Amino acid sequence: MPSYTAPVKDMMFLFEKLRDNKNYNELEKYNEVSSDLVKDILEEAAKINQNLILPLAKSGDENPAVLENGVVRTPPGYKEAYQKYIEDGWTSLSCDPKYGGQGMPKTVSAFFDEMLSSASLSFKLYSELSIGAYNCINHHASDEIKNKYLPKIVEGKWSGTMCLTEPVCGTDLGLLKTKAIKQSDNTYKISGQKIFITSGDHDLTENIIHLVLARSPDSPSGTKGISLFLVPKYIVNQDGSIGPRNGISTGSIESKMGIKGSATCVLNFDDATGYMIGNKDKGLSAMFTMMNLERIVVGIQGLGISEIAYQNSLSYAKERKQGKTNNSKSNNGADFIIDHADIRRTLLNMKSIIEGERALCFWLSQQTEVSLYHPDEKIKQAALDYVSLMTPVVKSLFTDLAMEITSDAMQIHGGYGYTKDQGIEQLYRDNRITPIYEGTNSVQAADLVFRKLSNKKGDVINKFLEMIKSECESKNEKVKTFSKELNHYLGILSKFTDWINDKNKIEKDDVSAAANDYLKSLGYVSIAYAWIKILEVSFNDFNTNKEFYSDKINTAKFYFDKVLPRAEYHYKSAISGSSNIMNFKFN
Ligand SMILES: Cc1cc2nc3c(=O)[nH]c(=O)nc-3n(C[C@H](O)[C@H](O)[C@H](O)COP(=O)(O)OP(=O)(O)OC[C@H]3O[C@@H](n4cnc5c(N)ncnc54)[C@H](O)[C@@H]3O)c2cc1C
Repeated sequence: MPSYTAPVKDMMFLFEKLRDNKNYNELEKYNEVSSDLVKDILEEAAKINQNLILPLAKSGDENPAVLENGVVRTPPGYKEAYQKYIEDGWTSLSCDPKYGGQGMPKTVSAFFDEMLSSASLSFKLYSELSIGAYNCINHHASDEIKNKYLPKIVEGKWSGTMCLTEPVCGTDLGLLKTKAIKQSDNTYKISGQKIFITSGDHDLTENIIHLVLARSPDSPSGTKGISLFLVPKYIVNQDGSIGPRNGISTGSIESKMGIKGSATCVLNFDDATGYMIGNKDKGLSAMFTMMNLERIVVGIQGLGISEIAYQNSLSYAKERKQGKTNNSKSNNGADFIIDHADIRRTLLNMKSIIEGERALCFWLSQQTEVSLYHPDEKIKQAALDYVSLMTPVVKSLFTDLAMEITSDAMQIHGGYGYTKDQGIEQLYRDNRITPIYEGTNSVQAADLVFRKLSNKKGDVINKFLEMIKSECESKNEKVKTFSKELNHYLGILSKFTDWINDKNKIEKDDVSAAANDYLKSLGYVSIAYAWIKILEVSFNDFNTNKEFYSDKINTAKFYFDKVLPRAEYHYKSAISGSSNIMNFKFN
């Protein structure tokens, strides 16, 4: 089983040293969130993840969730752990105190999300969708519905799901068939089949609140005729108590490559009672509230899995002896593999990506908070624009890089990585879903180049690049070596953006074929921006903690020398266009 120590030190570094952001500081509701409080929370979070949840990863993989006589049973240990998890209040961390939440900012809950993803992604998914459902209901439902459902979801006694996918529609939700028929009491009868539903049924909570996309008979076809419904597993009585079973049954659960502890269900809705959330035919945009926040959390899943893969690779590399290094001093026997240049390169590649991603995510969490709560509408909107630009980037790049990192972790472990003993291959398998669900990474890239880049006639991306440029200009002399480098790649990204915008007018296939490359270029530059912020502190505060800061500076140097150049490679690859791709005859 892999070991795991939560990176509380690095998280506290970000919270204390990168926190200073003018717009974020103006959010009064977080004035009282002190470093001491956050440290206490993260230390408690580390304990539950390291001690209670980490062992569930192996048990869930070996004893997947099962469907027995129509009832879904979670793997051994899940029920007890979930009970402790909700008793300790982890489901309520970032929820509104009005509904029983603790009101912590996303900067803190994102750290918790990362730890939980490192410990066990399967276990995490049972509460993750509940927070997604909480966000969606909180944004779009009536007060009556909010008061009835949110306190129990926040407490963790009821959980949530997101029901979009059907046998004929995954990416293309316009094809959706599930029907919603209005009743005289303004409720709806929902009928249809949903597949691949995470935590669609299980034995951890008293009730499950499904958020279901469905179409009324008089609604238009395509995405413009989809509405959103709350459909509980058990009908909730007027007084909030649990009533009769609703018309929902579990057809089967999927047998999967990874995240085997998570129950992925086929759900059949047969005249199930549902309540409309938000406006008729506007369900997709309401569901996007859930999906957008969820997509950032999926990016964080990739980060968390990368972290545990790195930690175990590092300790293995320090223990395993094989071969001699070029400058070996040992007379007999072999050297530790951590002394081989290629293993060192691989480890630094992982570390420089992970720490940069964590810092970028911290910045994005701040922007998310500003976008939700800043009193000035203009500032709020500007932050929302950045969040919306970066959402596909974080979702896709972090999860794709987690594939690279978990694969490299297996490579460092050699044959012991491929066999089950060390638990490394499980990280690779568990992560493999992250580039697929919540909108595949290709679809995220298309969203970026076709929608996000043209947002406000290109003003958002231009402002984002300008912001990075101006922050780079005013830096400490020592940071300037790095910012000069970053400026070079900003120039490339600007050219790349212009190329995409020009091609968008004349050859859309060129843009589609370049979408993944563009997303990656923007992602690598954004991570470098996060590294510049870290470097600024590291050089300024160097003497206060030389060991910690020289580690940061040297890791940043690796990122700028060896990882950031990928941004240029993606540009060069993209501008070769798509004519050969589109004209190629596949036999
Ligand atoms: C373990 C697991 C958990 C899941 N959990 C949930 C859940 O809780 N709720 C839920 O509703 N769904 C869930 N899903 C479904 C998941 O979100 C979908 O599988 C995913 O969105 C892709 O849809 P699809 O499988 O139908 O693939 P398709 O949409 O058929 O896509 C197949 C391929 O075509 C590509 N493609 C499709 N359209 C385009 C396009 N326009 N341009 C370029 N490329 C395109 C895709 O990128 C992909 O590579 C889950 C799936 C799994 C496996």
